Amino acid sequence: MPSAARVAIVLVLAAATALAEVSRQGSRESADLVLTNGRVMTLDPARPEATAIGVRGDRIVAVGGDREVDALAGPTTQRVDLAGRFVLPGLVDSHVHLRSLGEQLVSLDLRGLTSVEAIARRVADTAASLPPGEWLNGIGWDQNLWPGKQYPDQRPLTAVAPERPVWLQRIDWYAGWANRQAMQAAGITRDTPDPQGGRIVRDASGEPTGLFLGEAMGLVARVQPALGRARIKALLGRALKRCAEVGLTGVHDAAATAEEAVAFRELAEAGELPIRVYLMWKGYGGEPVDPLLEQPTLVDYKDRLTHRTLKLIIDGTMGSRGALFFEDYADDPGNRGFFVTAAAELRRLTELALRRGYQVATHAIGDRGISLTLDAFEQALAAVPAGDTRPRIEHLQCVRREDLSRVKRLGLIASMQPSHATSEWAWSEARVGRERGRGLYALRWVLDAGIPLAAGSDLPVDSENPLVGIHSAVTGQDLDGRPEAGWHPEQRLSLAEALRAYTAGPAFAAFEQDRKGRIAPGFWADLTVLSRDLRTLPPAEIPRIQVSATLVGGRFAYEDGAAFTRSPRR
Ligand SMILES: [Zn+2]
Repeated sequence: MPSAARVAIVLVLAAATALAEVSRQGSRESADLVLTNGRVMTLDPARPEATAIGVRGDRIVAVGGDREVDALAGPTTQRVDLAGRFVLPGLVDSHVHLRSLGEQLVSLDLRGLTSVEAIARRVADTAASLPPGEWLNGIGWDQNLWPGKQYPDQRPLTAVAPERPVWLQRIDWYAGWANRQAMQAAGITRDTPDPQGGRIVRDASGEPTGLFLGEAMGLVARVQPALGRARIKALLGRALKRCAEVGLTGVHDAAATAEEAVAFRELAEAGELPIRVYLMWKGYGGEPVDPLLEQPTLVDYKDRLTHRTLKLIIDGTMGSRGALFFEDYADDPGNRGFFVTAAAELRRLTELALRRGYQVATHAIGDRGISLTLDAFEQALAAVPAGDTRPRIEHLQCVRREDLSRVKRLGLIASMQPSHATSEWAWSEARVGRERGRGLYALRWVLDAGIPLAAGSDLPVDSENPLVGIHSAVTGQDLDGRPEAGWHPEQRLSLAEALRAYTAGPAFAAFEQDRKGRIAPGFWADLTVLSRDLRTLPPAEIPRIQVSATLVGGRFAYEDGAAFTRSPRR
């Protein structure tokens, strides 16, 4: 080679080295958080495993080995030693009710009580501590846990709290139990008609018993003094804090009233949303829906709030025997459930929402409710050729297998709650019988059909802890290890599938797949840090793992006090 050419090559190499140095300097100056010494499961096929993550602003800028990423640190960079902890893309719950969780955190908690007498005692104790005449609200009763499993009536509540209204909501929020004073306050008599989408339970003589199903709950709930905006914001704030504590970096709230939507917006403006909220309008329950859809959609408002979805409901729930089925309930002959929203109205609202650029997420639980919801989507999608609309079906709880090919063909996302299978297993199959029961909580069928799956809890119906849902999906067992062989073990997911359903799944369901759901450069620095590696533990221990930290956009939304050494502290 002539020497002039050799000199030229040397010069080019020197220039390249200098350029590389400059770009490293540039990164070094702007990387402001470096996490090292972790076990990082990225869910990024290009680099599935790492030990370190570099963050600049709210984004991930580097994923790799400790030395490689630590080289990006400068004098002001915060360094966090993860000490071997397990890091996942931020877990997201695809179906929550934040206000209800807030209310549950401040209300009388009736979950797990095994008799009417136990509940009445709890009500009596609470009543003694409240000012005279004030409403006593409780949440979480479940007659399936009681001897006889019968719906209650007003008498035990009237007996222990005769001077004040008492209103106790069922664990699934689809039935309410009132005492006589609450019914009097609401003006309920034998002449009060059942509202659309609900039922006032009556005795043989036609007298209301104190039990209100579906939309009939509103007859009692609406006479309670309204909560002000400040109170609603406080309840939402309480719930969001709890979500961050259990490792959630985002939630999909299904669904918000107009007033709650304003509260969320104000919280976002004040910088008081610790995690990301993907909001749905509540398209049922009395508020006129059409004006809600006049409002413009919001995406990443203040880096925290997206609001581009309408939540609809076709039927009730299985627990309260309101889910719509083609055939009678196996344990309630003559009953096939009821419509919360009439099929024609569901079709009209689905189409209207698509026209306005809204995503539609429809609650459908019984096989007939699901089938009619698919009809509504099919017609609306044909009428509005709107491109990428990502329609969602919420719960998809008891499906006919042949309908899953329609779910797939229509491009629907299945938003399901793995923990329902294990919190309801003791009675769910009795509702529908063995044959229909094969299609209950059919997670495996959904994945096998190629349908995108986004997982959630329906909190506060089930635990807000996403590890409880992941455990359910993987084992088919409740927290006590029942049933021993796992409930319908053929529907279980692998751990990797379950983790995707709490990360990449919700990201896709929220149009966020380019910024959420994996740990990779360019993605949001939304991370869930656990004390132990999920992959190396016996599955029974998954729900007991401690959350060490929750990071949202590179900031700590929650941190277990003693978890980390970091420098410098800021
Ligand atoms: Zn729900």
